[in-house]
Amino acid sequence: MAILVFFLAHWVLSIFCQTFFLHRYSAHRMFRMSKGWERFFHFFTWFTQGSSYLQPRAYAILHRMHHAYSDTPKDPHSPRFFGTPFGMMWHTKGIYMDVLDRKVDPEPRFEGGYPEWQLLDVTLNNRYVAGVFAALYTLYYVHFATMPWQFLLLPIHFLMGPTQGAIVNWGGHKYGYRNFWNKDDSKNTLAFDLLTWGELFQNNHHTFGMAPNFAARSFEIDPTYQVMKLLQVAGVIDMQGAQVMRWSPEDKQAPDGLPAE
Ligand SMILES: [Zn+2]
Ligand SMILES: [Zn+2]
Repeated sequence: MAILVFFLAHWVLSIFCQTFFLHRYSAHRMFRMSKGWERFFHFFTWFTQGSSYLQPRAYAILHRMHHAYSDTPKDPHSPRFFGTPFGMMWHTKGIYMDVLDRKVDPEPRFEGGYPEWQLLDVTLNNRYVAGVFAALYTLYYVHFATMPWQFLLLPIHFLMGPTQGAIVNWGGHKYGYRNFWNKDDSKNTLAFDLLTWGELFQNNHHTFGMAPNFAARSFEIDPTYQVMKLLQVAGVIDMQGAQVMRWSPEDKQAPDGLPAE
């Protein structure tokens, strides 16, 4: 039971921080918050992602590249060019590390507007700190595991960020349905996305890139947006003026002269 609670908490908090703080806030600036709350969520992301913390700057640059070059050779993670999610994520890791270590100059349009915190993003962002987090996860399992097979879950804790990234980037551009015709392979994988908290509405999101609600149709539910509505009421975030997702049955059709999917 203690293992299940820990696994679910780590999974949910890690993907929530990825979609809410890294994706919707750092990469897209879909809403505003005070510097104090920004620091709170930055720390919360570092703490909950732990051994596989993703730096907001590098995440934002890669993600903006993904939108600009979706499913073309310059996309950092398109399943179109790889046989397995592992191959794709290994390729993504190489680009991520080059951006993280400032070995490459990203296109200027992909830079700026993301939170930066030297202590968490650079000073404490290394293999030793990751090792401390991994040791703490292991100690928890040593103390609370009741069956040997539960230790098989440990690698997922070590690599929580890349695991969830692989599910979103692979599944969201390969499996599911489309609400909108667009030029890339993006799909909506689940209509009620509890697995990745809204990230698997890739087709909706690639069409309305600045809309905080990733759900477009009445049967779709984006859990993160439900939390964001509460944060808006509590005065933590400000989504005023944000883009609104609009869907009509014609959106599925390719424009005249272009091939349907
Ligand atoms: Zn995508
Ligand atoms: Zn995006």
